[in-house]
Amino acid sequence: MTASRSPARAASVFRVDVRRLRRAVGTRSERHVTEAVEGLAVTGSAVPDGEPVEADVVLEAVFGGVSVTGTVRAPWSGSCRRCLGPASGTLAVAVRELFTPGGDGDETYPLDDDVVDLEPLVRDAVLLELPTAPLCRPDCRGLCPACGADRNVAPCSCEPPRDERWAALDVLRRASGGEGDEGDAASTGGAEAASTGGSGGAGG
Ligand SMILES: [Zn+2]
Ligand SMILES: [Zn+2]
Repeated sequence: MTASRSPARAASVFRVDVRRLRRAVGTRSERHVTEAVEGLAVTGSAVPDGEPVEADVVLEAVFGGVSVTGTVRAPWSGSCRRCLGPASGTLAVAVRELFTPGGDGDETYPLDDDVVDLEPLVRDAVLLELPTAPLCRPDCRGLCPACGADRNVAPCSCEPPRDERWAALDVLRRASGGEGDEGDAASTGGAEAASTGGSGGAGG
């Protein structure tokens, strides 16, 4: 048994030795890494546990460090913001970052012992791109606010939501009518006119 073996071995695929690359500015090296990254979640969506994140990048020795350019891809799943059903997709983020000795992950990423660790870059890119209010599909009809039915499955018989302009009219009508029978008030407007003393109810 060799207890000295690194427990973080799985993460090592993201660690790229750039000692040789850095011997000459302009030297480039392509990397394609596919590996699961834990804890990629925001409110609304997450990369499912165990699902691999993909990084397709070119590392290039530049003055003072190493630049990393390419694309990060990851599958995500979450809940639709309209119907609360499952939503999923694949995100792709273009990345262009610099690794420098002493980098703190703010302006540049750290380049320690001539190793570029792509994992923090991948993590940051995915977390920035994960949707916080996903849709199951662009034209999701959502749930009826009145009865809660999923309108993607079948339309319900609830009235469509009132337009604010109509709501304002209702208030006016209620204020002037007052005696019920609101439904018929519009068609029997003559009665209303008579009660306010108007004599032109029949005219027009
Ligand atoms: Zn939906
Ligand atoms: Zn309804």
